[in-house]
Amino acid sequence: MKKIWKISLWTLGVLALVAGGLVVYMYPTMKQMMSIQEIRSNDKLTLVLGGGGNSGILESDSLVIIIDTKMSGPAKELYELAMQKAGKRPILVVNTHVHGDHSGGNKYYKGARIIAGIYDEKLWREQNGQENMPTEWLKDSLTIPMDDETVSIVNIGRAHTYSDVVVYLHKRKMLFAGDLILNKIHPVLNPVTGCVTLNYPIVYNRISQRFDIQTIIPGHGTTTGVELLQTLKQYFSDMEALAKDDTRQDLKAKYAHWTVLPFFASTDNTIKHIKAELAQRK
Ligand SMILES: [Zn+2]
Repeated sequence: MKKIWKISLWTLGVLALVAGGLVVYMYPTMKQMMSIQEIRSNDKLTLVLGGGGNSGILESDSLVIIIDTKMSGPAKELYELAMQKAGKRPILVVNTHVHGDHSGGNKYYKGARIIAGIYDEKLWREQNGQENMPTEWLKDSLTIPMDDETVSIVNIGRAHTYSDVVVYLHKRKMLFAGDLILNKIHPVLNPVTGCVTLNYPIVYNRISQRFDIQTIIPGHGTTTGVELLQTLKQYFSDMEALAKDDTRQDLKAKYAHWTVLPFFASTDNTIKHIKAELAQRK
């Protein structure tokens, strides 16, 4: 009996150490996810970065567009800020994709039009709850005049999830990319929500051909210029090269400073997914 106690205590101790280590390791990422990092307003556009996915609030005289509604506490903060700005103007919500850190605040916008790409309702419910269900599935694209700005909401296809949506502001030459584009953070690639890693470069080409971009608002991380698109094309090309030939370990070093999510996102994780997809295609 004593021996069992000793073993249990030892196991508990090890588990506590592992858990503690993980919390320390993941703290910067958790902090970014759990609290709004920055609110940046310029004219009629407000960027609300961090606290789940990055979000935008764009105002015109007759409409306010919210791009991505965040998760938990920050979702409520975003909603309160959006309400303050909108006053009596109607709100249109756009979800770049199904993940809860981008669309977990939909529930606050009761009665608003909520647009997302095309997903199976059952999948959305499982991932995000019925209370966060969009009111419309966008098949192609939608262009909305916003005073002197024009906004295009575009279903750009399948890569990060089954049906990824981007939002382009023509006058500002600005693209809200959702998690298709992350700023030097390894991507989370979840096949359950439809991720096809090998499609990322295809979607990037589509984006480059379709939009004249000056500023990218990535799904997570700080805002950046269009050059990030080139960096990401190179990333996926390098990861594919590594998936086909693991003697090319030198390619990994280029991404050593990128943010990793333990168990979910890293060079090894991206390579693993590409290998599985390549094997499936054979
Ligand atoms: Zn995502």
